[in-house]
Parts: sequence; structure tokens; C-alpha cells
Amino acid sequence: MKTSIATVSISGNLREKLEAIAAAGYDGIEIFEQDFIAFDGSPRDVGNMVRDYGLDITLFQPFRDFEGLPQPMRAKAFDRAERKFDLMQELGTDLMLICSSCHASSLGGIDRAAADFNALGDIAKDRGIRVGYEALAWGKHINDHRDAWEIVRRADHSNVGLILDSFHTLARKIEPSTLRSIPGDKIFFVQLADAPLIEMDLLYWSRHFRNMPGEGDLNVQGFMQAVMATGYSGPVSLEIFNDQFRGGSSKLVAVDGYRSLISLMDDVRRAEPEISLDLPEFPRRSETSGLSFVEFASRGEEAQRLGNYLESMGFSKIGKHKNKAADLYQQGGIRIVLNQETSGHAATQWNARGTTVCDIGIEVSSARDTLERAAYLGNSSFKQPQEKDELDIPAVRGLSGSVIHFVGNENGMDRLWETEFSQTADQKGFGLRNIDHLAQTMSYDDMLSWSLFYTSLFEMKKSPMVDVFDPDGLVRSQVVETADGSLRVTLNGADTHRTLAGSFLAESFGASVQHLALACNDIFSTLEKMIEHGFETLPMPSNYYDDLGARFDLPAGLLEKMKRANVLYDQDDGGTFFQCYSKEFTGGLFFEIVQRVGNYQGYGAPNAPFRIAAQKRIKSIKGMPKL
Ligand code: MG
Ligand code: MG
Repeated sequence: MKTSIATVSISGNLREKLEAIAAAGYDGIEIFEQDFIAFDGSPRDVGNMVRDYGLDITLFQPFRDFEGLPQPMRAKAFDRAERKFDLMQELGTDLMLICSSCHASSLGGIDRAAADFNALGDIAKDRGIRVGYEALAWGKHINDHRDAWEIVRRADHSNVGLILDSFHTLARKIEPSTLRSIPGDKIFFVQLADAPLIEMDLLYWSRHFRNMPGEGDLNVQGFMQAVMATGYSGPVSLEIFNDQFRGGSSKLVAVDGYRSLISLMDDVRRAEPEISLDLPEFPRRSETSGLSFVEFASRGEEAQRLGNYLESMGFSKIGKHKNKAADLYQQGGIRIVLNQETSGHAATQWNARGTTVCDIGIEVSSARDTLERAAYLGNSSFKQPQEKDELDIPAVRGLSGSVIHFVGNENGMDRLWETEFSQTADQKGFGLRNIDHLAQTMSYDDMLSWSLFYTSLFEMKKSPMVDVFDPDGLVRSQVVETADGSLRVTLNGADTHRTLAGSFLAESFGASVQHLALACNDIFSTLEKMIEHGFETLPMPSNYYDDLGARFDLPAGLLEKMKRANVLYDQDDGGTFFQCYSKEFTGGLFFEIVQRVGNYQGYGAPNAPFRIAAQKRIKSIKGMPKL
């Protein structure tokens, strides 16, 4: 399988783009003329440079407004095409994309267009060039791949074929199975893009909101299954117009794109095993049963404070690492490691960010398989020198310096804690049971990347993106979770530093985990014990409870009880939800205590603006000069 990406998909000058594309592992590029108009060199130089990076030019694009024109415009269009053929020959590429005409004078008519393509096919053939016809979703007469195929069929020329683009088909809600009746050898090229489901003008949607397969909401997998069922064996190429990507890191976008392509094609072959695909076999997505541990990097007085804080929540310091300055705090199934090492990954993270979550461990059935899949998907692995009494636990690097370990059952990992830690005390606990969710904060640009990381590696689904209102801006929020809720991650993308999420990013220099939500069975009794031991809850204004009383029909006394303990409330069709936030304990980090009753599926999103306002109130009080 030949992978490819359009140069417009990523940022930078042509050389930067090629570097990022080659490093990510693609075989080729679709080249846009704009890319080398700005380049200081001849088309031949461009072609050589591309090949020097080990890449092919899989496609030259776009050629617009060709078919169906009256004379003398028709003759002009043919002249234009010939000039581009000259250029392509200099570049060293043999396939041109012609998109369906949007020209005001285009006459339409399937046979007229077919005749134009037949004539162009003759010229192309003499030059060893092929042309592919793509139906733009907003084309004047042709905006459906079925009509484009009919034109190609009637053009009946060896050098004229069809080009498919998942966006144009899926945006118009055309059933992908309609592709299955097209002969695979007449499909010259396939472009892939996903997009979030937003009702808007098709052209605007396409030019600004496309994203990588799996990052959006379109049925790109169904589209690709249908394409592969035809026997298509040409390149699979990403063509992503996205404002964020154009302004983002070329490296990150190239790597994400490659990950999305490989993950998609793996899904395609698993869904239809009859499809033959030239792609190495690698393990399927890992099933996870949740978080094995969360590790904080901290030091000195701050570490002492964090330890005390955990103890006020009912955690016991039950273990001491045999080789490292690291303690294990546990309550129920929640393990928190407090690492005070002065060298290695935790130390690097502490130096950059102060107290921060430097590592998380995800429980998987096979750590080796997870790592193998991760490697195929282009994740870089992470290793630290291993000492006596330490296990080799596979790990990868996440975004912004984070590390994610895969804790399996093999190679002694089921006895990880006994092996690496000596027991120093027994567990006590105030009723906290497990980690309900991990809340990661990131710049909005990194959000798609994180969501792709989780959904391509683990059996996890993403929810649609929702907007959360901060008094000073907007935060976008998306959930990735397993079907049984054993691993839930909320991703929060901030655009501006003025939001609470944004100020956390600025203060922590891009850390990602901002809060941990811990679940219990009886929030009131758990909180009572915690408060007795010095835990401070985030004060909520009484207006919140007045509003709650008006919105929900709550049993007498419950509202009072919630108000006294600063507990927030939400409900959905499945059940009810109680949540309580801690005050920030350092650098914008905080905890949340939750209780799910029945089958509540959410995260208390309607409460987020009130929580954020309450947190900001405290921050501004703290920031005031002492009188
Ligand atoms: Mg296209
Ligand atoms: Mg939360």
C-alpha cells in the first residue's frame, strides 16, 4: 500500500514539508502548484528535491474548470492543460487531478464532458500522462462521483480515470456502497479526509474543517472499505485543508496523518478480511481496564504538601520504591506515585513545570502487543535505564513531554507493585474507589492529536466536541472513553491564556493533566471524612443552589446537604451525578470527587462554567496584595 499526503495539508515551506512528510514514513506527495511557485528553483529542481527525500510525486493538482466549455474557451482550456503537462513532465509525475468545473460558462452534458476527456486523453497518452476526474461536492453540473464515473466510462480512454475523495462523497451524504460497482482499475487515485459534522456551506466546510480520518465524524472507513472492494490498488492519500494544521507543527500533523491512515487501513482489513491489502500485520487495538497509576513529579516542600494533601483524602503511603525516591499512595484501586528523583524523566518534568503529572500507566491485556501497535502507528517509544528489582514496562511518549506506560499481565507486570516497592503501611481509606476520569488540558491545536492517540491505540470512542464557557473565553471539550467506562479521559482545548485552562497551560509550560476525578459510592460520607482531615472543597455560591432547586425536582434536604458540602449535581436519562472539587493544590492542579448513581454517562458538563468561575474567584483573591 502506497501512502501519500497533499502538501497543502501541512505548514511550512516546501523543504520543511518534505522533511516532515518523509520523516513520518509516507511514500509520496500530492503536489500543489502554489507550493513551488514560491520555491526558488525550476520544476525539475523541485522534482529532484522530492525524490532526494525518498518520496514520489503521486499526483499533480488541481486543474480546474476544464470540461464542458463552449468555444473558444474550450480550446483555451486544452492549451492550459498542455502547459501543465509540460510542467508535470519536468517535475517527473504522470497523474493530473482535474476537478469538476465550477465555471459559469460550463455547459454541462455528460457526453460533452466525456468527449472533452476523450480528446484530452489522446494528448495525455502521447506524453505518457494520465488524467483523473474528481467530482467536487460543489461542482456546477457534476458534484457526485456517480456522474463523474459515467463521464469517465463514456470517455472510454486508457489514460482517463476517476479520482475519489471521501470528503466530496460523504459531505453530500452519498452512500459509499455506490462505489462498489466501479472497476478498481478505472479509479486512478483516492484522497481521504474526515470532517466534524457541522451544517455549513460545503466549500467552506471543505476548505477549513477537514481533518484526519478518525478525527472527524464522517464514515471514512465505510468509504474506504467500498473503494478497496473494487480491487483498487493505487495510493491512499490525505488531502486535508484545515486552518489549524496550516498553522500548526508540520511534524506533528504529518505524524498524525500517517497514524490515521495506517489505523484506518487496519480497520478496513479487519472489517472485510476478503480485502487484500499490502500492509504488515500488527496487533489490534488494545482493550484497557483503566488506569494502573498516575505519577506526579515533585520535590521537597511541595512534595511534602502533596503527600499531606493525598493523606487528607484518605490515601495511605503504602510503599517505597526500592531504588528510587518515589512513594506509592493508594486508596481502593487508585495508585498515585509521588516521584522526587533528581535525574531521569520525572526530574526533567519537575524542572520544566514544577509539580506535575509526569507519567500515567494504562492497564492493558498485553503490553507487548500495545507497544507493537503503537510502533506501527508511529508513536515513539520511551525507555529509561532499568535497575535491579525494576520491570521493563513498555512505554511511549505522548504530546508535550508526557509518558504513557502500558501495564500488562506478562513479564511479571502483574506483580509490579510488590516487585518494585517495599510495603511501608496498610491501606485505610475514606471510600475513594477508582479513578473516574483523567482531565487533560491542552492547546486547542493539540486536541485532535490527543484524541487520535487514544482512539487509534485503544478500544476507545470519542464523543462529539462540546463548548464550555469560561468567563474569559471558550474551552472546547471532548471525551474519549471505553464502552464500559473503565478508562475515561476528558480533553480540554484552550485557545486563550485568559481561560482557566489556558492559564494552567501557561503556568505549567504545557503540562497536560489538570485534574483527576476520583469515584466513591457515597460522596457525602467520603467528603465528611476528608474535610475532617483538612481537605478543602471549592466553595460554590448559593446562587448555584437556588438555580439547581429551580431546575431539578430534588428531595427535601438534599439541596441543603449539597450546599453545605459544596457538592454539584447533574442528571441524565440514565442516572444522577454528584461532584465536588478541591481547591487548587499547586500550579493549577486539583482533584474532583464524584459519585455516579445508576447509569449516568456524563461528566457534569453543565456545571463546568460555575466551577470555573468559582476557581477563578479564588485565584483572584489569592492574587491580591496582602494589606
Ligand atoms: Mg480532492
Ligand atoms: Mg471532571
